[in-house]
Order: sequence, then structure tokens, then C-alpha cells
Amino acid sequence: MQMSEYREWARRLVDWTVDYYAGLRDRPVRSPARPGDTLSQLPDMPPEDGESMTDIFADFERIVPDGMTHWQHPRFFAYFPANTTPPSLLAEQLVSAIAAQCMLWQTSPAATEMETRMVDWMRQALGLPDGLRGVIHDSASSATLAAVLTMRERALDWVGIKSGAAGQPQPRIYASAQTHSSIDKAVWIAGIGQDNLVKIETDGNWAMKPEALAAQIRADRAAGYLPAGIVACTGGTSIGACDRIDAIMDIAEAEDLYVHVDAAWAGSAMICEEQRGHWRGVERADSIVFNPHKWLGAQFDCSIQFLKSPEHQVRTLGLRPDYLETLGQDEVVNYSEWTVPLGRRFRALKLWFLIRSYGLDGLRTRIRNHIAWAEMAEAQIAALPGFRITSTCRFSLFSFRWEPEGLDGDAASQALLEAINDDGRTYLTQTKHQDEFVIRFQVGQFDTTRADVETAVRVIAEIAARV
Ligand SMILES: *Cc1c(COP(=O)(O)O)cnc(C)c1O
Repeated sequence: MQMSEYREWARRLVDWTVDYYAGLRDRPVRSPARPGDTLSQLPDMPPEDGESMTDIFADFERIVPDGMTHWQHPRFFAYFPANTTPPSLLAEQLVSAIAAQCMLWQTSPAATEMETRMVDWMRQALGLPDGLRGVIHDSASSATLAAVLTMRERALDWVGIKSGAAGQPQPRIYASAQTHSSIDKAVWIAGIGQDNLVKIETDGNWAMKPEALAAQIRADRAAGYLPAGIVACTGGTSIGACDRIDAIMDIAEAEDLYVHVDAAWAGSAMICEEQRGHWRGVERADSIVFNPHKWLGAQFDCSIQFLKSPEHQVRTLGLRPDYLETLGQDEVVNYSEWTVPLGRRFRALKLWFLIRSYGLDGLRTRIRNHIAWAEMAEAQIAALPGFRITSTCRFSLFSFRWEPEGLDGDAASQALLEAINDDGRTYLTQTKHQDEFVIRFQVGQFDTTRADVETAVRVIAEIAARV
């Protein structure tokens, strides 16, 4: 394709984008597609000869939008948000135009230095202390893997990266059952193994019990294990549980354990000072991850990991073969030494555009609205006949169940959820809480309005009346 043709198509796609956003409320949120619908529309074999962009784009319009669940739909209340915003979209267009690999300072000086500055802007925005540094990963799963590998190596005094972890004392990691499955996956990949991720009992508020944690660490040391680190959560995925970071840090400091805080979703809310009590003590943690690509509006992928002492992680991941030496530039930061992948996208640009475009105050207003509207929806659903709130609002997430007279609550709630999502006006997802099937309601889509939240509650009531 010639650049002249690119220019014309790029303009058309901007028009398509604006119309797509304008029409989102008229589309079903969750795709009505059945498995195989898209596959059956794609030719078995790749073309030998080039095709026109007109044909390619016509097929895109015919096949793709209806085959997608619309994450930017203002009535998307499922999972956690993965928002984008116009300034973030614009930045990503420029990033894909420049198409640089941002692994070393010298391959991408502006991207590297902007990353340093944007991580520090976010540190200040979240009220974290001076001196904390950080890096931008693709996803929280990658940041957590980096933290777990660092826990392992720090406990083994970096013998594992040299000789392998086999034959060494067995590291153990501690977390509650409210933490995300990415912690389980990280211990699998790190060669620590699921059995050595010890899930600590939680209290009535779904926070890890500090005394149970301390007792487990003592018992493990006595049994010959090597306690290596703790993963605490602020805003767990299921119902938004928050560990008591300060109490966990007391134990970690006494036991010399590395602490990683997973605030992938709820970290964004910490731009609002009144939310910071939920992670009191976080400034003492070694590593903190949060995803501006969720609630904040920097589109996927953009996950910030703050680090108290980056040298631990760089010693774990900072491989530097001859062909990656940056000669005469000892003072520069090469962020690929902080992360698992070598190649890196220019992720800081969308943060720069986003934060400048809305200002922190504009972003705070959205988050405060979302939390207020979630509390409103919780009260409205609590008042519906046959409905029970199963976990109250944490940030902007609560869960509920439908238990109509004479029906099994699990089956009824599941049938209700399926009917709501088939209806298409809103989209919710489920979790298991206290061994019950419950429906999550999470307000966080960037363009959602109070009216959208009210519509969702109305749809729930209307469908329950007819299911
Ligand atoms: C979304 C989420 C993750 C996973 O994030 P990715 O960026 O998709 O890897 C981990 N932990 C929590 C608490 C989350 O909400």
C-alpha cells in the first residue's frame, strides 16, 4: 500500500471510529456470536494476490463488529473495565506510526525518559512516597511474574538464575484466596509450584488474617521451607477485597519477606485521596502494580509497577548480552532489564496525552461518580423483591443474588444472568462467593452515565419479573 492510499484510509477509519462510539448504546453489549461464527466467514487459505483495501474493509465491517463484545459500551458492567479515551487513541496512533522497540534508552530515548516521568507523575497522583521508581509492563500478570521471580531470587540469593532452583531450599509465597489467578500462574511459571503458594485464611472482611500469616511463616521455617514473599491485594477481582497492608508489612519486615501489592483495578481509585485508607501502609511495600488500562482510561496495554528498590528486579531480569550493550551510556535506564520481554511498546505516550487532556481532577470526577453510582445501584437492587446483596460496594464493585421463593438461588441467579446478557442492553458477569453463584456489578466504563446505571438496574428488575 502506498502512503497516499494510507492517508485516505486512515481518515476514513477515524470517521468509522467516531460513528462506532456514537452508535455503541444501540448495540448489544455482549456479542450474540456463537462459536465458529467468525471462523466460518474467513477463507480457509490465505490469498496469493493482494486485495484492495475496499474489499478488506467491507469484510471487516461485515464480520468483526458484530462478532465483538463491546468493552467501550457505556452499559458494560462486567469484569473490570478496560477503558480507552480519545487522547489515548490518538497517542496509540502515533505510537503505531513510529513503531519503535523501546527496550533500551538508545533505541528510544524519548520513550524511555517519558516512561520515567509518567511513572513518577502516577506515583504522585496515587499519593505514593518520593523515591519509589517503576516501569510500565503490558499487563499486571507480567508485573506480578516479575515480582514473584524477584521474590524467589532474593530469597535464594540469586542462585536460581545461575544454577536453577532445583536442589535449593523450597521458596514459599503467601497470599489470600481473594488474590487474582495471575499470582497462581506466576508461581507455576517461576517453578515454585502451586503447592508452595500458601493461601492464608481471611477474616470477616475478606482480608488476610495477619496472625494466620505469621503462624504459617513460622511453621514453614520450622519445616525447612524458605519463605520468600507475600502478595497482598487491594481490590481483589472477585468482590474487591482489600488486605490490611500495614499489618502484613509488620510481619514482612520482621521476617525479611518481599511484598508485592496487586492493585491492578483499584489502584486507579487512589488518585482520590479519600480511597487511600484501603491500602494504608502501601508505601512500605517493595512492589505495587496497578493498571491505568483499566479504570483510568489509558487503553490496553499499560500496567505500572512501582518498585522501592528496582535493583532486586534488575538483578533478576537484567540480562545484558554483548549485542545489547549501550556503550558509554552507563548512566541511562534500559527498561527491558526490568521486565521479562525484551521488546517493549512506547506505552508512556498515552499516559502523557491522557493525564494532560483530562487533568487529574477530571479523572477523579469520573471515579467518584462511578463509586457513587455503584452505591446507588446497590441500594436499588437491595430493594428489589427476592434480591440479596452478597458483598457490599468496595470501590465501585458489589455482588448480588436472586433468590425468588421456592427456587434454588444458584440456578435462579444463573438463569437471570444469562437472560440479562442475551437481552443485550447491559452486560454483567458472575463469581463464586462463599460457595454461592453471585452476580458482580461493577461501574467503571469511562463514558457511563447515571442514566446508564439506572437502565441496567431497570433491565435486571424487568427480566427478573419475566424469567
Ligand atoms: C485485572 C486484574 C489482574 C490481571 O491483569 P492483566 O493486566 O490482565 O494481567 C490481576 N489482578 C487484579 C486484581 C486484576 O483486577
